[in-house]
Amino acid sequence: MEFLPLFTDLRNKPCLLIGGGQVALRKARLLCKAGAKLRLVAHDILPELSKLCLNAGGECIRGEYGEHLLDDVFLVIAATDDHDLNTRVSQACHKRHIPVNVVDSPSLCSVILPAIIDRSPLIIAISSGGRSPVVARLMRSRLESSIPAAYGRLANLAGQFRDKVKARFDNIEDRRHFWEQTLQGPIAEMVFAGNENAAATMLGDAIKNGTVEPGGEVYLIGAGPGDPDLMTFKALRLLQRADVVLYDRLVAPAIVDMCRKDAERIYVGKARSDHAVPQQDINMLLVKYAKEGKKVARLKGGDPFIFGRGGEEIELLAEEKIPFQVVPGITAAAGCASYAGIPLTHRDYAQSVRFVTGHLKDHSINLPWDELVRPAQTVVFYMGLVGLPTICEKLMEFGRPAETPIAVVQQGTTPNQKVVVATLATMVDTLKDEPVRAPTLIIVGEVVKLREKLAWYEKYDLASTAL
Ligand code: SAH
Repeated sequence: MEFLPLFTDLRNKPCLLIGGGQVALRKARLLCKAGAKLRLVAHDILPELSKLCLNAGGECIRGEYGEHLLDDVFLVIAATDDHDLNTRVSQACHKRHIPVNVVDSPSLCSVILPAIIDRSPLIIAISSGGRSPVVARLMRSRLESSIPAAYGRLANLAGQFRDKVKARFDNIEDRRHFWEQTLQGPIAEMVFAGNENAAATMLGDAIKNGTVEPGGEVYLIGAGPGDPDLMTFKALRLLQRADVVLYDRLVAPAIVDMCRKDAERIYVGKARSDHAVPQQDINMLLVKYAKEGKKVARLKGGDPFIFGRGGEEIELLAEEKIPFQVVPGITAAAGCASYAGIPLTHRDYAQSVRFVTGHLKDHSINLPWDELVRPAQTVVFYMGLVGLPTICEKLMEFGRPAETPIAVVQQGTTPNQKVVVATLATMVDTLKDEPVRAPTLIIVGEVVKLREKLAWYEKYDLASTAL
């Protein structure tokens, strides 16, 4: 190991920063965040940098670096592009055993600054030993996405109860086992869900009982409209905790594959009029597995609370007092609209947007058509493909102009996305020539016109294949 990672308390410690440009500014921000007292020296100092330094109680010296500036400092950072100066600083610091960092010159450094993930009080530092800061940064972004922002709060909570746990378990093994259970179980989830008071109560009870109830729980997870990249960090994290995964027809296989390899996967999807598993049975399954103490992920396409029957699924859980979390997802309207280049609202064309279901009941669609035909409004129909002729006909009958643009988006955000644009009068015929496959989303309103301009990348694709 070339460098041993150490975490340093810089609060109120004098630190010398040599350099007055952008690089120095970045380092100064970091040092100030850690509470250091800056001694800044450079001929030219960016106004923003001097302000930062003075506001944090430091001193700005406009002029030449001299070795006397090293007196009493705790750490030195040289951020200049003058190699001779950097070398002199480094040598002087080495002689005096003062930790020194010279930006972009690992061989002159006795300490290096890592890439940092800050979940204070939890800090993760990553270093490539000065070989490749970019590799360290790439690693950091991978970790950033998998470590919940609230981990710091969890560490704080654990810190508050540390002495109590120590008093309760005098055996170090028992203590470790207790913390391992606590920091991965429902108490941690409670902190991540933002309810620290409840988590503290649960932790207090667990200390009293000497154990954490393993307790099953259910995560109702919105998996987004198809593109796996549109899952949220939270969705991914909870999915990877699950022992059992129940998923819908609308959830992309690549998303289901993100669960743990040993998790049990259960398909409960429904195709139109072909109910694979009736809704009540799904609700019962969730309860059954949770009661067995399992973590159950219920993956749903889009957002669970938008035409997703998510409310029905958690009703029974609430009655049965089974802990659950609902993770919102990107709903099909948002996903399809973005990927098709159709802003759902626009200052000039639509001041509101409505999401409605176009699902047929007894061969008709029961909707407040007089409200849907209002101008300056975008209407998005979910489950509307079968009812499309009725939808177009009704909108025109109730007064929306026949030339109103309408888009049908097939399998939006997936590689099979296809967008067909026509008008209320022509869409039914257009689809005869350009058939689409479910799931499809229908967008009605002037905003559809903007696609011409905004979906430029699709044209770019076509242009490049033509070349
Ligand atoms: N809860 C889901 C909607 C479930 S209803 C959500 O928030 O998106 C199912 C309907 O959603 C489908 O009939 C279709 O109209 C729409 N839908 C879902 N995913 C879609 C996709 N990738 N492309 C187009 N429409 C989609």
